[in-house]
Amino acid sequence: MQQTAKTVVIHETGGPEVLRIEEHTVGDPGPGEVRIRHHACGLNYIDVYQRTGLYPLNLPQALGMEAAGVIEAVGDGVTHLSPGQRAAYAATPSGAYTQARVMPAEQVCPLPESISFKTAAAMMLKGMTVEYLFHRTTPLKRGDTVLFHAAAGGVGLIACQWAKSEGITLIGTAGTDEKCSLAQFNGAAHCINYKTDNFVDRVNEITAGKGVDVVMDSVGADTFEGSLECLKPLGMMISFGNASGPVPPVDLGMLSRRGSLKITRPTLFTHTADPNVCQAMARRLFGKVDGREVTIHVDQTFPLERVAEAHRALEARETTGSTILEP
Ligand code: NDP
Repeated sequence: MQQTAKTVVIHETGGPEVLRIEEHTVGDPGPGEVRIRHHACGLNYIDVYQRTGLYPLNLPQALGMEAAGVIEAVGDGVTHLSPGQRAAYAATPSGAYTQARVMPAEQVCPLPESISFKTAAAMMLKGMTVEYLFHRTTPLKRGDTVLFHAAAGGVGLIACQWAKSEGITLIGTAGTDEKCSLAQFNGAAHCINYKTDNFVDRVNEITAGKGVDVVMDSVGADTFEGSLECLKPLGMMISFGNASGPVPPVDLGMLSRRGSLKITRPTLFTHTADPNVCQAMARRLFGKVDGREVTIHVDQTFPLERVAEAHRALEARETTGSTILEP
């Protein structure tokens, strides 16, 4: 069956103006694929990196990596999903900013009835990221202290609540006092306005000079050096994003001089590459949301046609929590 779907595509890299709305033909799924009709699509900072060319794509390419909707058809060999079923995903290849698509089934997850499409599209990529940061990257235990930058953002507000639910003390940072209040309301034990305060000094005060066990840093260039200064000896630096620009090359000797620090640069899609692990990560996330340990904040909603405005707002640091595109 052939149908068309409004889809956001880039033909060149650049500012939000390169985002074009096109009508694409959507066919039937082949082996291992599903056709899904989207009810909500998620906006993520990775979409900005792809649009600007920081993370290169073969062009032209439809953007977006997160959505929720209803399965319309399944290809041969797909056993975990069936037509009519509710589903959600954070997955490659890009192309989630669309009304409907055919895509590989492996990373598409059955969605519990209790979770709305909007909530699902706002949490799959961000929530599974928090899942691996807190459960898979380094052992974390109750009582540990984590410094988490951009704590009022999409990933950030989920991380604040997740940390609280696991008995982990999260010290957040954010760019305004209002964002700091929001992070604290969501479970951050402390939140530092890193535009007005020196976050290294404040972490030092809060931890009585001991430093933190782990830093989770998605801001990148602007915070990287200071983040390392906040770590205890043997601490773990998790650099997982670059909202302010990429981190410069690292001098390994500096890790020894600062006290045998560890460092990693993980990505969600390495973790979800194994379909069984991907489904397990999604189930843990659904459990946190169903159990009301984590509430997903959809703080901005744009029609798909206004995707450029959504990108501008995200890059201008005007958003909090998650942003949804309505297809
Ligand atoms: P956010 O909603 O957190 O938006 C980014 C935030 O970063 C802004 O709101 C802003 O918060 C902060 N920021 C600091 N400096 C800048 C700057 N110069 N320009 C823009 N923003 C800045 O986005 P997401 O929740 O979608 O993603 C958060 C981060 O996590 C991103 O860097 C993303 O790439 C990364 N990520 C990494 C994954 C991985 O597996 N490696 C997976 C998912 C996300 P404030 O104003 O408070 O400073």
